[in-house]
Amino acid sequence: MRLRILGAAKEVGRSALLLEAEGKRILLDAGVGVGAEYKYPLVTPEIVNSLDAVVITHAHIDHSAYLPRLFEMGFSGNVYITKPTRDLFQVLVADYRRIAAERNAWTPSTEAVTEALRHMAFLDYGESARIGDVRITFKDAGHILGSAQVIVEAEEKRLIYSGDINPRPSRLHSGADLEGIDADILITESTYGHPEDRLPSYKTAGKQLADSVRATIESGGFAVIPSFAIGRAQEVILTLDAYMRSGAIPDVPIVVDGMIKKALRIYRANVLHLREEIWKGILLNDYDPFRSERIVVPRRLDRSDILELRPTVIVSTSGMLTGGPVLRYLEMLAYDERSKIILTGYQAPGTPGRRLLEGARVIRIGEKSYDIRIGVEFVHMSAHADYNDLIRYADAVKPERAITVHGEPDRVDALAKALEKRGISAEAGELDVWIDLGA
Ligand SMILES: [Zn+2]
Ligand SMILES: [Zn+2]
Repeated sequence: MRLRILGAAKEVGRSALLLEAEGKRILLDAGVGVGAEYKYPLVTPEIVNSLDAVVITHAHIDHSAYLPRLFEMGFSGNVYITKPTRDLFQVLVADYRRIAAERNAWTPSTEAVTEALRHMAFLDYGESARIGDVRITFKDAGHILGSAQVIVEAEEKRLIYSGDINPRPSRLHSGADLEGIDADILITESTYGHPEDRLPSYKTAGKQLADSVRATIESGGFAVIPSFAIGRAQEVILTLDAYMRSGAIPDVPIVVDGMIKKALRIYRANVLHLREEIWKGILLNDYDPFRSERIVVPRRLDRSDILELRPTVIVSTSGMLTGGPVLRYLEMLAYDERSKIILTGYQAPGTPGRRLLEGARVIRIGEKSYDIRIGVEFVHMSAHADYNDLIRYADAVKPERAITVHGEPDRVDALAKALEKRGISAEAGELDVWIDLGA
């Protein structure tokens, strides 16, 4: 068995891992790197034509958006994926296409997207598929709707690939399934792999968000929450709706912009994949937070109608301020001292979101520079494991060997060191070299 990392070695983004076992070649994830510029995995036509199957762990574009490119290069095999991930992929790939076209980056053809969708084979959690003598099984990863960890059984070994993982409960998910995940080899994400990476519980983070939003609304401003379309946005919206419903924060419209509304519909349609409390609440209490009357969408293209709703809260893509309608709100509100931007998740190096967090107070949108007088805050509502969770995860897997991926260089290194100390032979995966997993 051997592995070649084609993307997401010592970086977050463009996840693509080529696994060879039992004479078969399987690509685990096919993502595009998001940041100041798009980055693509090192997948060549030769590699694509040698593939027997592709597995997609979840819909975030750093794991899924390169999939149509494989079909453009001639791939014609199965893509193993959960059904909710397929549903979300359709929304995300449409969003990617629109932004990529604006940036003159690779834009998948309609035919390639259709081909990708036609070749999808659904696997639910706990279900297995065979690719020759290789068996793959999905387990809930607790990260976003439909997210999966992948167990690969081949050559009398068990390997587990975490995808993006969150073992802790969130408002929407009950946390990754850690039952029966023991394996000889662990390939683990490392986004928060440094011992100093400690994240608050979703309840603590939710309260911080509510406090911040309440203060902004009470001072008559707009709370602007840049967000990924999928995962964080739904956690944020349901958290705000719950606080407003209980009266803990003033009842104002929740403006939802970008692809978030579409993704909300997909979350609702796949509600049985979410925490039991969510769907039982809908069935028994006759209250459906996904269809909350507080949720409003802008009616005008220039979003000027939203200014009439002052004070209120706005949840909009993109999460790192690299594009999307959130920039329109920033243009309108950059000088508004009563308003606030509340960043909620990972900000890649070089993105406007990261620069604001690092103290920059001038940002460029298109041709214009803006002096930022709007407040900037950070509330960490992560959908990822923190350091302690990653250690707990490795303890559940109990591997002999571990490879750390999907983290900035200091993160993959720190996690590999920590795993070494626990008696696991661990290394930070290098890009584009074969790693022998055989012996
Ligand atoms: Zn993800
Ligand atoms: Zn990721």
